[in-house]
Amino acid sequence: MGNSNIHPDAVIVGGGFAGVTAARELSLRGRSTVLVEARDRLGGRTYTADHDGHAMELGGTWVHPAQPNVWAEINRYGLETEPLPAPEGLRQAIVSGGRIVDLSDDEVAQGVAALDQFCAPGKTLFPEPYGETWGPDPQGYGDRSMREHLETLQLSPQVRDWVETMCCLVALGPLDQAAASEFFRTYALSGWSVEQAMAALTATKLVKGTRELIGSIAEQARLADIRLSTPVLRVAQADGEVRVELANGDTISAPVGLIALPMNVLNSVEFDPPLSEIKRTASTERHAGAGMKSYVRVKGDIGNVSVMAPEAHALNWAVTYRHGAEGSWLVAFAANPDKLPMAGFDDVAGMQEALQPLLPGVEVEEIFGWDWVNDPLALGTWCIYRPGQLAQILPDLRTTEGRLFFAGADSAIAWRSFIDGAIESGYRAARDIDEYLGAGKG
Ligand SMILES: Cc1cc2nc3c(=O)[nH]c(=O)nc-3n(C[C@H](O)[C@H](O)[C@H](O)COP(=O)(O)OP(=O)(O)OC[C@H]3O[C@@H](n4cnc5c(N)ncnc54)[C@H](O)[C@@H]3O)c2cc1C
Repeated sequence: MGNSNIHPDAVIVGGGFAGVTAARELSLRGRSTVLVEARDRLGGRTYTADHDGHAMELGGTWVHPAQPNVWAEINRYGLETEPLPAPEGLRQAIVSGGRIVDLSDDEVAQGVAALDQFCAPGKTLFPEPYGETWGPDPQGYGDRSMREHLETLQLSPQVRDWVETMCCLVALGPLDQAAASEFFRTYALSGWSVEQAMAALTATKLVKGTRELIGSIAEQARLADIRLSTPVLRVAQADGEVRVELANGDTISAPVGLIALPMNVLNSVEFDPPLSEIKRTASTERHAGAGMKSYVRVKGDIGNVSVMAPEAHALNWAVTYRHGAEGSWLVAFAANPDKLPMAGFDDVAGMQEALQPLLPGVEVEEIFGWDWVNDPLALGTWCIYRPGQLAQILPDLRTTEGRLFFAGADSAIAWRSFIDGAIESGYRAARDIDEYLGAGKG
């Protein structure tokens, strides 16, 4: 057991935004940590990869001033942001009724009005979206899927297809498995405004990528010993300490541990004593975010386009990332990857077939993406609760167990499932751990 003599104030499992933020915050409070991350990089479900001369985000991308924690971090490190998609000359279209309809400003406004109707329960369900609780739910909205809620609205077919596609993009998972309340919450966090929610979801990205942001945070975590390529196998609590056992045979002991893992992978680590039944069940059930995001290089200049398609289609959104005569890159999203006629990210013909309903005639040359759903360290995309999970699992997911604290975007209070939520949870965990240690419980 090589490193069992190392005794930091806390050991942090997981180097996504939640874990790294907590490491920095603890450093700033004079607390030492060892942070162990299974991958050979920090960032977890954010991943800026250099490809074809671009810093491409394979995971989390969009940030917005309405997201207070991530925006404060962007300001703190003076990072540059840019719009995506570029607003100039953006052609917006939807596949509806078997054809591609170019949307006028009026038609987009009709969609926004219908989405406002869809999200209206967010006004009573999330009257204080930055708080830990939510409002009364006599209608049982928390148990309703996006699909079920959509069925209750009277909408014209094209407007309905628009709202349905927006649901696909918020869930990035099957609409009958995603809770409608997840969309209500984003709407509430956006000042109960659909326009603001749309901007928060997909308007602004970091020029040099999320990699620069997490790198800046990690650099300031001066009292953190960050170890990459260091998977954790087991976490035990005994004799007044937490022992984290690593795949390389080492053990790290500390008075407290912070578990900053995705909810879907909690069960892949052995805990002794076992985690609460609610945490274990949540990890087995998983959240509903199980979609696909990929970059697609196509021949020629396809212009600045954003084409949406409702759930029956294999792809639900294709949007220009870069375009020019030498070729264009699109970002493509699928809420139901099992509908894709693709065998993998090298199946150019399959992607070409999937893109035809949205962009007929387009010729695919290359695909570049990451399979988050089959990545054992993520087992899903962003966290979208299933109907009922909000009330059943959320409070417990962030509840301390003995000397173990929990953080992560999947159990954040406000912008849960966003980078912002991961950062918020890192702040909270560091504060709680510092208080716990300060109270002499270390
Ligand atoms: C395709 C995609 C698109 C997204 N788009 C956006 C977006 O545009 N805007 C936005 O705000 N959010 C977006 N998100 C969500 C956002 O990226 C995540 O919610 C957030 O980054 C999660 O941070 P986290 O620290 O909670 O978890 P993670 O980033 O998942 O970090 C957990 C870490 O734990 C590590 N780990 C797992 N198992 C072990 C183990 N046994 N031992 C050691 N380490 C382990 C993992 O490797 C990982 O690094 C997107 C996510 C995906 C997948």
